[in-house]
Amino acid sequence: MTEPKLADDEGRLAALGRLQILETPPEQPFEKIVTLVRTVLAVPIATVSLVDRDRQWFKAQRGLEVQETARSISICTYTIQQAEPLIIEDTHLDARFAGNPLVQGGPRIRSYAGVPLRTSEGYNVGSLCAMDTKPRRFSPADIAILSNFANIVSDEMELRLIASTDFLTGALSRRGFEEQLGREIARHRRYHRPSSLAIVDIDHFKTINDSFGHPAGDDVLRQMGQLIAKVLRPADVYGRLGGEEFGVLLPETGAADAFVAAERLREAIQNHRFEMPGGHRISVTASVGVAECGEMEEPKAWLSRADKHLYEAKTSGRNCTRMAPSDASARA
Ligand code: GH3
Ligand code: MG
Ligand code: MG
Repeated sequence: MTEPKLADDEGRLAALGRLQILETPPEQPFEKIVTLVRTVLAVPIATVSLVDRDRQWFKAQRGLEVQETARSISICTYTIQQAEPLIIEDTHLDARFAGNPLVQGGPRIRSYAGVPLRTSEGYNVGSLCAMDTKPRRFSPADIAILSNFANIVSDEMELRLIASTDFLTGALSRRGFEEQLGREIARHRRYHRPSSLAIVDIDHFKTINDSFGHPAGDDVLRQMGQLIAKVLRPADVYGRLGGEEFGVLLPETGAADAFVAAERLREAIQNHRFEMPGGHRISVTASVGVAECGEMEEPKAWLSRADKHLYEAKTSGRNCTRMAPSDASARA
């Protein structure tokens, strides 16, 4: 019996996209599992492979020492097309893989066991693989162990997503946002495209809590999230960095344009009337610090530069946007 979701590559890619895991740095749960697979199954190579449109990308790997390969030469692209594990005792005897460059050269994969990584929607986004450089049989016990580890990998992928969402506003959490900054920096290094970051901090938010109560304050944060989402362009990314502070990532945007975008957002906040309990509607203002992505930047350093300018905005009287003088000169 074939399952329709196994043939739906577009739906599968959407499920993979939803997990927001491609291009993220190594993370402990996945590192641990590939190490365990290698030890427990006594194989030299173990990977968490995610099958993207044209490549397989390794969230974790031991013994391969590459981050990705073309999908056309990936064995996992076969694994994800079935519900059951794919087991190959000798790749030289399998017409699908005998001539594969990963078999003939490189890691010289001679035997393979891969268990599909299934999302909660039922899509196979990748596989947990154990590979050897010599032919071997995988026992039912080996496959049971690998399948259990694959379930853990699938759960971890969902859990890390939960950890990257802020439940009050639905925006990215600080962790999720920093992860996006990391990806953006990698993109910046590769393609030399401009990118900017804005930090938006609500002015005198404590007074809102004090006057209307903490739940009403929460509601302002929720409405602020919605407003930011409405004002931003689709490619922009926003997250709640903590308390009443939001981060906005503006890809493909240099300092001059970022300043304009930040001011547009600040004015939209100033002009918005936030709904309060009892039918009150109040005005809220925010201060904004902007920093353009620099060379060799780290997410935390980028945030702290934007934060410095946010502080300047606060000390200049609030309800304004500030950025570095060098960034500001780019406006001219
Ligand atoms: P400033 O203009 O200098 O930014 O003043 P502020 O009052 O906005 O900033 P301050 O950092 O002094 O206070 C932030 C307040 O935000 C204090 C804290 O109780 C409140 N806060 C933090 N997280 C939450 C939250 O999740 N919900 C609510 N309702 N309040 C929060
Ligand atoms: Mg504040
Ligand atoms: Mg604050």
